[in-house]
Amino acid sequence: ARPAELARTRTTCGYCGVGCALDVLTRGEEVVAVVPAHDGPVNRGHACVKGRFAHGFRTSPERLTRPLLRRGGVLEPVTWAEALGHVARGIRSAVAAGGPDAVAAISSARATNEENYLLQKFLRTVVGTNNVDNCSRLCHAPSAAGLTAAFGLSGGTDSFDDVERADCLLVVGANPVEAHPVVGARLLQRVLRGARLVVADPRAIGLAHHADVHLRPRPGTNVALFHGLAHVLLAEGLADGEFLRRRATGLPELAALLTDYPPDRVAAITGVPAGDVVAAARLYGQAGRPAIVYGLGVTEHLHGTDGVRALANLAILRGAVGTGRGFGVNPLRGQNNVQGASDMGALPDLLPGYQRVTDRAARERAARLWRAEIPAEPGLRIPQMFAAARAGDLRVLWIVGEDVCATDPDTTRVAEALETCPLVVCNEVFLSETARRADVVLPAASWLEKDGTFVNFDRRFQRVRPALDPPGRARADFAIIHGVADALGAALGCPTPAAALAECAALVPLFAGISHERLDREGAVCWPAPHRDRPGEARLYRERFATPDGLAHLAACPYLPPGESPDDHYPLVMVTGRRWAHYNSGSMTRRTRNLRLDADDRLDLHPDDAARHGLLDGDPVIVESRHGRARLTARTSREVAPGQVFCAFHFPASGVNTLTSDLGDTVTSCPEYKVTAVRLRSA
Ligand code: SF4
Repeated sequence: ARPAELARTRTTCGYCGVGCALDVLTRGEEVVAVVPAHDGPVNRGHACVKGRFAHGFRTSPERLTRPLLRRGGVLEPVTWAEALGHVARGIRSAVAAGGPDAVAAISSARATNEENYLLQKFLRTVVGTNNVDNCSRLCHAPSAAGLTAAFGLSGGTDSFDDVERADCLLVVGANPVEAHPVVGARLLQRVLRGARLVVADPRAIGLAHHADVHLRPRPGTNVALFHGLAHVLLAEGLADGEFLRRRATGLPELAALLTDYPPDRVAAITGVPAGDVVAAARLYGQAGRPAIVYGLGVTEHLHGTDGVRALANLAILRGAVGTGRGFGVNPLRGQNNVQGASDMGALPDLLPGYQRVTDRAARERAARLWRAEIPAEPGLRIPQMFAAARAGDLRVLWIVGEDVCATDPDTTRVAEALETCPLVVCNEVFLSETARRADVVLPAASWLEKDGTFVNFDRRFQRVRPALDPPGRARADFAIIHGVADALGAALGCPTPAAALAECAALVPLFAGISHERLDREGAVCWPAPHRDRPGEARLYRERFATPDGLAHLAACPYLPPGESPDDHYPLVMVTGRRWAHYNSGSMTRRTRNLRLDADDRLDLHPDDAARHGLLDGDPVIVESRHGRARLTARTSREVAPGQVFCAFHFPASGVNTLTSDLGDTVTSCPEYKVTAVRLRSA
């Protein structure tokens, strides 16, 4: 027989939020290579170790290939008809017993835009509830809230291409060299070509070694640090008075607040020397084209939304947003489609395109298009879903591609919620920590086997194309959602992903000019893209801000301490984050050769703390918090400050997220992953 021909499929990386365009070379059902696309709009011929090499999971013998149904406590293979029929009966009886709000769904960045759109439409129109949320609740929900309040739209203010022209980069709470390597390399290149660099991060991350100033605030003190920088901008006449008069509001209130944040007081709160606060503010304040790039070190706090607002204050004070005299405030999203999941309305209070469910006109527009009543009450957020399950109020929880028992905080309590909920349904690629606790497991396609679109961190729609068929009887989430609707006798419309995006575009002016056909022709389009024949807006707010009054809003939010602080019982502060070879719970990357690059979760700690605990490199160590216990391997590192420890969460068996608390951002409920008080002992 002739060997199968080599095929090339252009798609978008399914890992981080950079959204690298990749060419997947296949022969038959085998991936021969993944090659970064030279004409990729963000990556321009580059990709990292995840996008290039972490594809071996495709053929892992552990891939789920058949639906599973729990019978007598054991998950057994069944047909799709049996599995979907069981889910449909469960939804029907839950609604009969507890009303539509007894059903909820958690979506994720694993799902395409079209799948997110279809899932929220299913919940709202077939079930009749707004109980739908997505994994942005755990990462960038404070960005959505903070950027919307400051500027009017829930996305970064500028394209990454603009950021690359900046002459001063303020990189805050992000480690792009490991978590977003293609962006990390481009930022570094910019610095090597002369841009000034301020890094604000408790750890001495890779970029910090190239920084003009490295600010190392105590975890949980960001707001005070940003106010200290703003204080210096005002005190030294570095604010843009004309911009503030014409295009911003809130200056008197902020100026009054900032009198409480002189560098000396900020130094006392944050641990950052006052001279460094002044030096950093001068670099940012005197630059011609400053840009802010930030990550989860800003958002995953008890006051994460305040952190985003306080950071946005800096750009507003400098007139560095919407003017071309700087490149605004730009979040680095950790996951490929976490922006898109929210754009598509997989949120309990927002319809597609960030239209509020409480807004009658928005609801009526959706109701006309969908031919169904839309409930007016916002639904449950993810932590509220778990609480409702534990209380017996939630009877069906459908989880699409999110391993909540590995990545959510305080996983012991999450597992309790799943055990209490009468029907847990899981769309998954592997039998994850969550799937193994589900009642029905629906085998899902991976990003290499899907058709649709993703939106990356700079609001760029790009196509996702199937390079391969899903293995066995696995199906794309799009087909699974339709299958559940069919089993309930409901018609969802949108027979194809292209039709789903077309319907969303008809509903949401921000996306009105975007279609599969256009993306196939042009490669990528940034939203807002209200017209089919005009480019999308990579740089926002040239004319006016999208707030109701058209102005940028400064925020006078005082610094408030984190939810957890070290004490005599738990004397160290643990910060969690990502490492370069793995992605989130690692369910895909651990099943590839990337495992050889990084084989376990380690606990990084300062040599002084290691000596105090009698620990050497490679020693097993037990980490305990007020919430749980994890077992890790000690690694001494001067990257972490004394009194702090750092670990990733890529190996669920180590139990890192049993340690983290379910305290969350006071505005959005985003967990406080970045501040957990812990203690250590030898294993
Ligand atoms: Fe690009 Fe991120 Fe994928 Fe790496 S993980 S190839 S940086 S999109």
